Amino acid sequence: MSVPQRNANLESNGIVTYVAGWTLGGGTSVNNMVFNRGSPYDYDGWANITNDDSWKYSNMLEYLKKSENYQGNFPSDQHGYDGPIPVSQPRYAPGLENWLEAGRSLGHAITTPNGPQKMGFMPREFSKRFGRRVSAYAGYIRPFLRTRRNLRVIAKSEVRRILFEGNRAVGVRYITNTTEGGQVSNIAKARKEIIISAGVIESPLLLMRSGVGPREVLNEAQIPIVKELPVGKGIHDHVVLGLTFVINNKSLVFDPDRDLNPETLRIYNAFGDGPYSTSGGYVGQAMLASTVAQNEGNPAWADYMLYPIQSASAPAIFPPAEGIAMADWETPVFCGVAAVRPKSRGTLTLNATNVDGDPVIDFNFLSHPQDIQVLLEGIQTALKIYEETPAYKRLEARLAPIEMPACDNLEYRSEEFWRCFIRQRGNSFLHAVGTCRMGRGQSDPDAVVDSRFRVIGIDGLRVADASIIPNVVNANTHAPLYGIAEKASDIILRDWEDRPGGSSSPSTFKKTHRRRTWA
Ligand SMILES: Cc1cc2nc3c(=O)[nH]c(=O)nc-3n(C[C@H](O)[C@H](O)[C@H](O)COP(=O)(O)OP(=O)(O)OC[C@H]3O[C@@H](n4cnc5c(N)ncnc54)[C@H](O)[C@@H]3O)c2cc1C
Repeated sequence: MSVPQRNANLESNGIVTYVAGWTLGGGTSVNNMVFNRGSPYDYDGWANITNDDSWKYSNMLEYLKKSENYQGNFPSDQHGYDGPIPVSQPRYAPGLENWLEAGRSLGHAITTPNGPQKMGFMPREFSKRFGRRVSAYAGYIRPFLRTRRNLRVIAKSEVRRILFEGNRAVGVRYITNTTEGGQVSNIAKARKEIIISAGVIESPLLLMRSGVGPREVLNEAQIPIVKELPVGKGIHDHVVLGLTFVINNKSLVFDPDRDLNPETLRIYNAFGDGPYSTSGGYVGQAMLASTVAQNEGNPAWADYMLYPIQSASAPAIFPPAEGIAMADWETPVFCGVAAVRPKSRGTLTLNATNVDGDPVIDFNFLSHPQDIQVLLEGIQTALKIYEETPAYKRLEARLAPIEMPACDNLEYRSEEFWRCFIRQRGNSFLHAVGTCRMGRGQSDPDAVVDSRFRVIGIDGLRVADASIIPNVVNANTHAPLYGIAEKASDIILRDWEDRPGGSSSPSTFKKTHRRRTWA
């Protein structure tokens, strides 16, 4: 949980709950599987920040393609076809045609989310095969568990500290939970190097707990300093909020109570199709540029995303649909509005009095006024879509009344009302990045890793996960992370091949020590 935000989620006292997939496959085992590479401009921005052209989209494309087994509706040479992660567009997509028609009538292109992302309205693609999730674990690890002698998974375990000899990382201390409810402490020594991929929250915590972080944080927590680096500084995320509309056609939404039954289960098992194959009614999206992007000279680099949710029940963080006055034939639908190139930056630090406890996270959401402006324009576009386009007029779409006591003193639906609403309801999109920011190396005061994933000033230690992303992509994060992971593995192999007398031959860690701590 975050510290109370001054400008976001005020409806819930500003507390933002950030969840992650604490399991094999991480977030890809629990997420909504929405597959979006982000804009080519995002990657070009990273190349600029790192001064390393290998991060440009044109150079990252080989890695994005390598991870992909594209089965969607926009085949082209921009996609990969024999990677481990299937990418598909479900046939079951209630309401998608209305969404695309609305976009067309507003003069936007109907386009592809990934090949590469362009501005406009588009269906959503997902990391699914046959309507089923394929996680990082299912795609990259499980198939090789029995055949790769340099791969070993130690489940139910958690790395607690990175061990150093001078400025060289030499191993990790980890605990394994036993079936009897106890814990065993072990040390694993690295033969070559250590790669941390514990995610945007845990990777920086692991570094700080081990002595790599900001001087003031380590001093306060009385942790001996191995290397002073700006770990945890720069955390940021997309900010999302939901609008609820009412339409007159229940067949255009996924209703679990109505749609999940033995017959639809049979269809799912036989064809991977039907209501069981949906990710909660997510069917499409629009990638659009606000006046902020346009005034900055980036009219083709979307800074807000809209996405219809064709579901009878509200997804998490959206206000509940119960209590909305509706006729029998009507149903709620939802529209997500997200600021996807946020400028606000926050911090993640250790709790100095309990370094192994929960971190102190201040996303500092919506502290930059332009983030609020972008959301405001996103809301205005959503209202136009649902209230003014023929596609939704036919459905008699209307905005469900908004109960927001904190904004009651403002004229309903005025600009000031929406600004208040944004602060009350803006929340994390669960796409946080930036806690072990990648940069130019030693000379970059904001950088924790260099553009080859190496922790600056430390030998034998890299970080490869969402924490290294300096500026979040303008869309969901797991697709770019597959590309980043492919790039990391390529760089690491090459670095070892290039060493004098070196080889990239398989090598696992050496387990050196076993100590029962408590049972
Ligand atoms: C509910 C939810 C919905 C989402 N929906 C989408 C979506 O639809 N589309 C999309 O693109 N993105 C989505 N995301 C975001 C996306 O899943 C994440 O950005 C992505 O998974 C981050 O990858 P990562 O490798 O950086 O970290 P993670 O996926 O968090 O992986 C970190 C791994 O490290 C392990 N770990 C952590 N600490 C330790 C430790 N100390 N020792 C050992 N292991 C450790 C964890 O168990 C986990 O397996 C969603 C996220 C969530 C939580």
